[in-house]
Amino acid sequence: MIRELEKLISLHDLDIMISDLVNKDIVKQEKKLGLSPDLAASQLRKLRDELSLTIDRTYRDLYDQLAGHYGNAVVPVINQMCSGCFTQLPTAFCASPDRNDRVETCPSCGRFIYWCD
Ligand SMILES: [Zn+2]
Repeated sequence: MIRELEKLISLHDLDIMISDLVNKDIVKQEKKLGLSPDLAASQLRKLRDELSLTIDRTYRDLYDQLAGHYGNAVVPVINQMCSGCFTQLPTAFCASPDRNDRVETCPSCGRFIYWCD
C-alpha cells in the first residue's frame, strides 16, 4: 500500500479516537478507569498535527474538506462498493492489482478509498 494512503488512513483513525474522547460516555468510562481523557486527547491532537504535516498538501486539504463535509474522509471498498456512499464501483476500477498503490477517490462521493480484500 502506498505510504500516502497509509497516512490518510492513520489520520482518519486519529480523528476517530479524538472524537471519541469528546464523547461524554467514553470520557466517563475512561475517568472511572483512572485514565486521563484530556491528556490522551491532547497527545492524540499533537500526533495528528505531526502526521498531517507529512501528508502532501493536496491530499491534506482534500481530507480536511471531506472530513468536514462527511465526517469520514477515508473509507474501505467492500465487495466493489464504496462504504461511504454505497455506490457500486466499476469492475475495471476494482480489478487493478495495484489499486492500493495510488491514492484513489470514489467517483461518486469523492472520499478517499482503499481496498482491504
Ligand atoms: Zn463513495
